[in-house]
Amino acid sequence: MDVDGERSAAVEAVRAASELCTAAQGRLAAGDTLTKGDDSPVTVADFAAQAVVCATLTERLGALDLVGEEDSSDLRHRTALRDGVVELVGAQRGGEVSAEAVLEWISVGNSDGSGDRYWTLDPIDGTKGFLRGEQYAIALALIEHGEVVLGVLGCPNLPNPDGSRGAIFVAVGGSCEVYYPTSDLPGPAVVAAPASLAEARVCESVESGHSNHDQSALITERLGIRAEPYRIDSQCKYGAVARGDASIYLRLPTRADYREKIWDHAAGKFVVEQAGGRVTDVDGLPLDFSHGRLLARNRGVIATDGLFHDEVVAAVQRVLAES
Ligand code: AMP
Ligand code: MG
Repeated sequence: MDVDGERSAAVEAVRAASELCTAAQGRLAAGDTLTKGDDSPVTVADFAAQAVVCATLTERLGALDLVGEEDSSDLRHRTALRDGVVELVGAQRGGEVSAEAVLEWISVGNSDGSGDRYWTLDPIDGTKGFLRGEQYAIALALIEHGEVVLGVLGCPNLPNPDGSRGAIFVAVGGSCEVYYPTSDLPGPAVVAAPASLAEARVCESVESGHSNHDQSALITERLGIRAEPYRIDSQCKYGAVARGDASIYLRLPTRADYREKIWDHAAGKFVVEQAGGRVTDVDGLPLDFSHGRLLARNRGVIATDGLFHDEVVAAVQRVLAES
């Protein structure tokens, strides 16, 4: 199916949200952050980025089915937080916007993922990294019949080989391209091709509460990998594998009952696959996006450049079985 219109609208939306987040990072005030029911932080920029992405997509494409991480009802009775969100959205869109319009845009993301064709959005993935002044991502994907068909991953603070910062990965129709700030034209993103596992590098979450670091150290050692793990927040890990900064991304469950959220993986996993890599859960099963907001049938994630995927899954399985 042809998704050219969706591709250009999604890139425009992610670029606008990336600009907003870059402007906001490091400038947040004390009252700009809220702790949600699941104990995770959310900032004015998370809500504002969701508003900007939803506004851009609806203006370009009409009515949408979109599963967004943020919920506008968290802002209804928090006027100071809401005012901060409205200000960021107005500044990004170059004029005043009403609070009602902003809440409506955020509410576009209220779908439950039960439709045949829907978008999913994490407006700021890795909010903890965003707050630390480190890595975060804007992750937008289009899903049809449980399969990702378009993934746009904005990594506004990602350090690039040429010394610049910021990359937008776009995965669609068999290839992955990456835009850098230094050019209007994208270049190809292609996974690394290490000669052996000893040359590979693992990336993982900064947060040991999101991925088990002790188990990954054991797996890495058993695979004969020499490099220290590359720890970065957010789906930037998928971007790192897609362009060859790392060969393996391990996300090892820290709790038996945790289920990954679709918006934490849809864009990133497609970026890696279209760049030539492979992505499964820790049991070697494909990520299954046909169960609403959660990857209900999967545990953890393993993304690789594809060369040694089965070996990595086998090593993970052995270590998990011993624990
Ligand atoms: P990362 O930046 O890779 O640490 O991932 C950030 C994401 O981890 C957030 O968007 C959360 O949705 C997700 N998360 C929160 N708790 C857990 C957990 N116990 N296990 C795995 N992921 C989690
Ligand atoms: Mg997230």
